[in-house]
Parts: sequence; structure tokens; C-alpha cells
Amino acid sequence: MQNLIEYKGWIVAGVFVLLFAAEHIRPVVTYSFHPVKRIIKNLSFWPFNIGLSLAFILPVTYWASQHALLARHEILGGLTGLALDILILDLFIYWWHRAVHEMPFFWRFHEVHHLDEHLDTTSAIRFHFGEIFFATFVRAALVIVFAVPFTSVVIFEVLVLAFTLFHHSNMALPQRLENALSKIIITPSIHWVHHHAIRKDTDSNYGTIFSFWDRLFRSNSKTHRSSNMKIGVEGRKDKQFLKLLLSPFISR
Ligand SMILES: [Zn+2]
Repeated sequence: MQNLIEYKGWIVAGVFVLLFAAEHIRPVVTYSFHPVKRIIKNLSFWPFNIGLSLAFILPVTYWASQHALLARHEILGGLTGLALDILILDLFIYWWHRAVHEMPFFWRFHEVHHLDEHLDTTSAIRFHFGEIFFATFVRAALVIVFAVPFTSVVIFEVLVLAFTLFHHSNMALPQRLENALSKIIITPSIHWVHHHAIRKDTDSNYGTIFSFWDRLFRSNSKTHRSSNMKIGVEGRKDKQFLKLLLSPFISR
């Protein structure tokens, strides 16, 4: 298990480097300025979230996995169980993501992610630690109720981080490939609409790994991504790093 946690960091870092390179070689949007300041700002969230993961998220999740309400039937061992766990956890993230948009208290934290006015792989790292903190408790309850093994959660986290990097990326995919992938998984063209600075689109396309939850629960937007679409939060402006960290706690 220790190995898996160590691999997790290296796999995610590897995916980040590959996608970061790809989006600079073949971008959808060519920025008219060198966005170094913005990239540094987004990457500054990474140490906070890695620290939170090691000191809090992993221990809480491990504890939850050791206190499941029910023992699992052996039919749910191996890959069948893992596939089911990934579906359950992705469905949870869908509803958690929807909740942080619909509940004003949680939106204060999630807005930090949405205030980014450009999108690329670094946007996927820009999450306020408060949002991750609250999500950990809700997910721990799910782990207890469904007896999700710790290994499944760690594998799911690797997948979520890889998919989150992928669907925020500015990498241009061949249109036919992207259309085919988007039938099953969340692609950049789906997720970029979620970052469109029009509130109706911001409150849509909530999926993280699988794209069918949005179709099933009727939250998929009909808007198509365009390279000149305005990214951010309608009526709001991006802030400096420290102001972003403090913004959930400051009255507006
Ligand atoms: Zn969102």
C-alpha cells in the first residue's frame, strides 16, 4: 500500500508533465501573453493539497475503510469490486461537485477554482484546501457505508487526478477522437463549458471521469466549446494567491 501511495505521486506528476508538454505543442487556445505568473499561482496550491492529502485525507480515508458497516461479499473482490468502487466514487464526486455549486457555503471554496480566467493543466491543481477538507468527510462516510477498500480509493484518486488534469488541459485533440471519447468520459471540450463565464454553463457538466452522469441527471450543457469563449465566473475577477486562499472566509 505504501508503494501505491508513492506511485500515486509519480504517476500524477508524470501525467502532468506529459499533458503540460502536449498543450504547449498543440494548444486549443494560443495565449497572447506569457502566462508564467498565472502558472506559478496555480501551482502554489499544490504543496497545500499534497500536505493535506498526506496529513489528513489518507489517514481519515484509511480509518474509514477499517470501519466499514458491512463486510463485502467475496463476489465483490478483485476487478469487479474495483470497477464498482470507481463507479460509486465517481457518482459521489458528481453529486459533491453539484452540491458545491448549489450550496453557497461550499461555493465560496469552489469558486477559487473557477475564478481562473484561462484553462490548462495547472487549473486542475488550483483547488482550495477547504473544499478538499470537507469532501474528505463526506467521502469517508461513503467508504464506511459501501465498505470501499482503501486500495480502491487510492486507485480512484490517481484516476481522478489524471482525468482532472486531462479535461482542464489546453491540448487540442483530433475532433473525431474527442467526439468518440466524450460519449464515455469527460473530455476538455465538455469540461471547458463548465468553466464558461456564463452561470448557466458553469452550473452544468459536473462529471469528473464518466460523462454519462450528466446525461442521466440532466445537467449536461448544450453549449459547444469555442476557442474564444470567456473563462471564469460571471461578474467576478481572478485574485492574487493569498486573496484566493482567504476569499472563502471574507464577507463580500
Ligand atoms: Zn465546478
